[in-house]
Amino acid sequence: MPTTEFETNTDKKSITRPEPEEIQFGKKFSNHMLVANYENGQWQDANIIPFKNLSLSPATSFIHYGQAIFEGIKAYRQKDGHVVLFRALDNWKRMNASAIRMDMPEIPEEIFMNGMRLLVDFDRSSVPSLEGTSLYIRPFMIATDEFIGVRASEKYMFSIITSPAGSYYSKPMSIYVEDKYVRAFPGGTGNVKTAGNYAMGMHHTNLVKKMGFDEILWTDGYEHKFVQEIGTMNVFFVIGNKVITPDLMSGTILGGITQDSVITLLKRKRHHVEERLISVDEIEHAFKYGELKEVFGTGTAASITSIAKLTYQDNEIVLPDPENFEIANWLKLELSDIRYGRKEDTHGWIFQV
Ligand SMILES: *Cc1c(COP(=O)(O)O)cnc(C)c1O
Repeated sequence: MPTTEFETNTDKKSITRPEPEEIQFGKKFSNHMLVANYENGQWQDANIIPFKNLSLSPATSFIHYGQAIFEGIKAYRQKDGHVVLFRALDNWKRMNASAIRMDMPEIPEEIFMNGMRLLVDFDRSSVPSLEGTSLYIRPFMIATDEFIGVRASEKYMFSIITSPAGSYYSKPMSIYVEDKYVRAFPGGTGNVKTAGNYAMGMHHTNLVKKMGFDEILWTDGYEHKFVQEIGTMNVFFVIGNKVITPDLMSGTILGGITQDSVITLLKRKRHHVEERLISVDEIEHAFKYGELKEVFGTGTAASITSIAKLTYQDNEIVLPDPENFEIANWLKLELSDIRYGRKEDTHGWIFQV
């Protein structure tokens, strides 16, 4: 049985609220963490403890075979002082979809949601308050059998850590459209949030960065013809009066919660949204005829990131000035207004801590 009580064997000592200019993403962590262990077919306990190093056997299963999944969520401090989570229940559902795909146990809602709420409440003072800042929440699960035989682990650890995140100004990106390497194939794990999806892209992403690009736009593994997603972001194209984003049918794209929020907001504003295959040819064709108005990425880390340039083989697609991206800039503002409580949340996306 999952315990419904969270033991908090720690002092509630407060830290000073971090100054936004000293926040570097992902380097500083709040004072506490949540840890729950899975053993003998059940979740055993869930504790909020002081943030500390883990002590693990070098034979720990996930180190060798990569049964490791994670999530990314943000908590925002609203003007009235309330701290809220954005769509965290959807992250819980997605984490369990990842768990099933990687043959890991699902996490009870109680541990994930209540644990996260309690943890954020505990370290409330580390939620920054300036516009654009947030507390980044990183739930993750790893296989913890001390065994180097190849099989699904029997023991797992679920944990949540949090990290203050600064105002994320994301300058427009220059993107390399991939025509050789592959991120995900139908039947693979591209549609779940597992560590290996990132490991395979590190080398090539670094090479592309050395060439002066910011990120890779992955394409399908058969022909490198249809676009998938960018690094940690889903991608949108505004062609004429249509907004197009790759659909999730092939199972090669991670369905972003920001992507889903953007689709919802656009449809509500009566924009014409299409979720379907979109080819590099179609994008180049639209560019040639002056129909390609905007390209942008969506994800929890940077919310909406405008794309200034796409490079595919010898062709460069240079977008109009991203400062004038009507849709991307509207979406950015709309999402901020909902998250920081300036606009009513009519979608049930906001969860009070
Ligand atoms: C997490 C992630 C995204 C973005 O998902 P959000 O829920 O919007 O943060 C997109 N692509 C990949 C590969 C991801 O891991």
